[in-house]
This record gives sequence, structure tokens and C-alpha cells, in this order.
Amino acid sequence: MALAAGAEKQQGKLVIRHIGLMLSGALERPILDADTVVAENGRITALGREKDCDTDEARVVVDAHGTALAPGLIDSHVHPVFGDWTPRQNQLGWVESCLHGGVTTMISAGEVHLPGRPRDIVGLKALAVTAQRAFSGFRPAGVKIHAGAPVIEQGMVEADFADLAAAGVTLLGEVGLGTVKVGDEAARMVGWARKYGLRSTIHTGGPSVPGSGYIDADTVLAADADVIGHINGGHTALPLTQIRCLCEGCGRAIEIVHNGNELAGLSALRFARELGQLERVVLGTDSPAGSGVQPLGILRLIAFLASFGAVPAEQVICCATGNTARQRGLDCGLIEVGKAADFLLMDRAQHSAGTDLLESIGKGDLPGIGMVIVDGIVRCGRSRNTPPADRVPELLG
Ligand SMILES: [Zn+2]
Repeated sequence: MALAAGAEKQQGKLVIRHIGLMLSGALERPILDADTVVAENGRITALGREKDCDTDEARVVVDAHGTALAPGLIDSHVHPVFGDWTPRQNQLGWVESCLHGGVTTMISAGEVHLPGRPRDIVGLKALAVTAQRAFSGFRPAGVKIHAGAPVIEQGMVEADFADLAAAGVTLLGEVGLGTVKVGDEAARMVGWARKYGLRSTIHTGGPSVPGSGYIDADTVLAADADVIGHINGGHTALPLTQIRCLCEGCGRAIEIVHNGNELAGLSALRFARELGQLERVVLGTDSPAGSGVQPLGILRLIAFLASFGAVPAEQVICCATGNTARQRGLDCGLIEVGKAADFLLMDRAQHSAGTDLLESIGKGDLPGIGMVIVDGIVRCGRSRNTPPADRVPELLG
């Protein structure tokens, strides 16, 4: 039965009513004046006030009981291998645990932890195709993992990128984790990737683990990948002057990760804010990593940036939802008609010093998740990982 998780979408109509706060994921309007969302066959079909929505003949009804609804969180930077196993910390069930942290979509920055990972060109292409197929066919706990992200190596030619695209690969793993580390060479391959529709990301900063490399700001700018991967290091960060150069010197996505340097992450957020370019900021965990797997990594990053970064919580949440979806061309991450019905229902944690959800996050507390929905299917009720919230949504059937 597990394999069926690949294509499952909710059949029929889902209605979520009595939503106390609707967070859109869109920076230009992060809070919507609405209390009801309707989805059919896994897509949002209506949102607004309940009296204005057609809620008849719902197959599944959720009473939010005044909790907040947001788009499911997107982790912009993960390193999956196969299924719900990671050899990095020899751990099972890490993706399912992240679902309980509100994450409904993950983007691979390379399946680099595979023991014996092939580095020859035929082998790396085969691995990319296999990973893309495997995660298309199987969603651990329902989480959508966009994987099949080859790490480019010296000797690749344009035809290799055409082959990858023709085989269904849509991503490049972190540039710099293989033998291609120089700006010009990387730029040529990133250009080929872009020509064939593959989105790219580049490792930024010091080596993550023995075997990976150091990439400075000049190299990142020369390579011109779509995403400045972990601009705050993974974990060793560049000097803040170089991070500022990256923010000011290009228009590419600014990725801040949980498994990075916190001061550098906070600084990158500040540089983006000062530039008036918060829409470039996307959040990831870079997990599994040397520091482990943090199922609440994205939530912790949101609370950290909202409490220290002088950016309101509802805007930081956009950095983990709509910004990422737009930067990466995904059909989720926004509460908008036509988008995937991926939802997170949450409320202020019990005994938080904040009086409501957004204020509690602004004070650095994590929210309590009450339900996570992917493609219209309820994947979990009250999270086993977050602190309990005052209010919990109810599945009415
Ligand atoms: Zn990296």
C-alpha cells in the first residue's frame, strides 16, 4: 500500500471552516480576510467567508475551531536518499517526523549521502533519474519530495543536461559538492541546466563535512545558480561582507538554512530587508546533516527570524511557503484558487507569552500544530512534535 502514496489526492470536496486567521503565503498580502477554504480533488477551489462559499456535499469537513491556516511549509534544502531513511544519522522516519513539523514539500539539493554515490557521469545521471522516479512514486507520510538532483562533475557536456531533462530530471544538486568548483566551469554547466529547464542551487561557504568544498562569494556570483544555497553556510559561513555582496550583487534566491550559522542567517535576512527584496528569501534545513535531523527545523527558523530579524511572523512564514514556491515554480505554498490543497493548521502554544499565534512566534515561541493536510488529505492531527496548542482543529468526517 505504501507505494500508493505517490498519486493519492483527496477525492471529492474538502471544507475547512471556522479558520481564525488565514495566512496566504504571499508577501504582498500575507493575511487574508477569510474563514473558510474549499478544495476539490486536491486543489483549492474557493476561499472567503463561509456564507459566500459553496460548502454543500462536502466529503470531508474540518472545523478549525479558530486556529490559523497557512500553506504547508516548504523545505528548500534537504538531502534525502531513498524512502524515509537517511544514512547520515542512520535514522528512519525523518521525513514523517518533519510532516509533524508542518513540512509538506521538500526540495532535494542532491542525494549526496547515498553510500557509494556514483561520481562518474553515467552513474550520476542514473542516480538522478532513479531518485526522481523513486520519490515521484513514493511520498513518505505523504510529503512531496522533489528529488533527483545530480551533483555536476567535470567532463559533463551539454548533451548530458539535455539527457537529464528528457529523462524527467528538473533539478541540479548543490554545485560545488562535486569536482566542478570554479566559477566559469560551473557557470557553463548552470547555463546548460537552465537552457534545459533544470533549476540549480550552489553550495555557499565552508565545507559541510569532510569531502565537500569551500565556495566564496565571487564563485557564487560567477556560477549564477538560481538559488544561493545556504547563504548562511552549511554550517561554516562566509564573512558578512561577502554575504552582503551576494545579496546586493545578484537577484537570485537567498536561501537561509537551519543547519547554518545563525548570525549569518540573521544578517542575510537584514540585507534582503534593507534592499526591499524579502521575496528572494527562502528557508531550508539542509538536513539530514552532521547536526542531525530537526523535525521542527523550519518552524524553529521561522520563530528565530521573526523574533530576532525585525520581520513580522506572517512575512517570515511567506519565506517558507509562497516565496519558495514562486522561486522554484511549484504549484503549492500559496492559499489561492488553483493551488495544491496543502495546509497547516496551528495555534499559539499553551502558556506562550504571546497573546495570539503571530505574537507568540514574534516572541520566539514555536506554534502548536493541530493538523497537516497534503493534496486535500489529512496526513496528521495534533502534531506529536510541537508543543500543544490551546485550540485544536477537529475532523468531522
Ligand atoms: Zn551545502
